[in-house]
Amino acid sequence: MNNPDYPVQFLFAGKAHPADGAGQGLIKKIYEISQRPEFIGKILFLDNYDMQLARRLVSGVDIWMNTPTRPLEASGTSGEKALMNGVVNLSVLDGWWYEGYREGAGWALTDRRTYENQDYQDKLDASTIYSMLEQEIIPLYYARNRSGYSDAWVRTVKNSIAQIAPQYTMKRQLDDYYDRFYNKEAARFKLLSADNNRLAKEIASWKESVAERWDSINVVSSERSENLQTSSLVSGKEFSVTHVVDEQGLDDAIGIDLVVLATGIDGKDTIHEVFPMDVVKHEGNLYTFHLTTSIDLAGSYKVAYRMYPKNKNLVYRQDFNYVRWFI
Ligand SMILES: *Cc1c(COP(=O)(O)O)cnc(C)c1O
Repeated sequence: MNNPDYPVQFLFAGKAHPADGAGQGLIKKIYEISQRPEFIGKILFLDNYDMQLARRLVSGVDIWMNTPTRPLEASGTSGEKALMNGVVNLSVLDGWWYEGYREGAGWALTDRRTYENQDYQDKLDASTIYSMLEQEIIPLYYARNRSGYSDAWVRTVKNSIAQIAPQYTMKRQLDDYYDRFYNKEAARFKLLSADNNRLAKEIASWKESVAERWDSINVVSSERSENLQTSSLVSGKEFSVTHVVDEQGLDDAIGIDLVVLATGIDGKDTIHEVFPMDVVKHEGNLYTFHLTTSIDLAGSYKVAYRMYPKNKNLVYRQDFNYVRWFI
């Protein structure tokens, strides 16, 4: 801060929650340090952080520095506000900066922890920040050309606005809502309600008939290859399975998946792969489901089957949440 070639000023602002004793202690410590003779006018604590003050800060400083303890930063919206105003960010890759950071458009500390111990980690992060500021960031800021400004700094600001800012606007958010939800919902509504709600009524009556029969729909016979026991599986070889299901008068309204679970070294089961079974034959109420496949990865596997109502007019299976597991 007292380098005559590269003078720097640090402004701190923020409020600690009334119940946050550690936060209040930190603010007190910053204030005390700011009162040391060598730091008068170099480190300032601005109290009563509010929108008025924030507005001046996010548009008036050169660098927005945020030093969260990874991975606890919820977002860091103030960094986004600074960005909109051409302020360059320096922060840990955490919160919004984890996805927002681009090389050449700000500075980042790695998202990885080196130490479990937070005191050690804080010391390492502090050294990294000092080193980045002293070796890279401040010299770049002061690399002034004949017109009195740093080309490289202005390039960084431009990169930051051009490459990052468009991702953090309300327009981008609304576009996402339209693309992912609203437009799809509107199209779906149109489809369901057309022709005096024809499709909606059709789906509703199909659901009723499935619900009425669900408990009596049953697997009347099963055949498995040798390497596929009732509930476990030998990997590396092709296996096959056939189930015959009595759909109780429904018209191809049932789907079956073979679900493979892998047992990890911790003894916990996780879904390894899901194989949909094909309907290969249909005689009266009897539907024959078949699957031939293999698992290449060695390991210990369990298998189970899940039966669910299927209908091409349902967008998701959860739209009709009936399921029955069997082995
Ligand atoms: C933006 C803002 C905040 C939130 O800041 P974060 O970095 O997201 O924690 C708090 N107070 C004021 C006055 C603000 O303008």
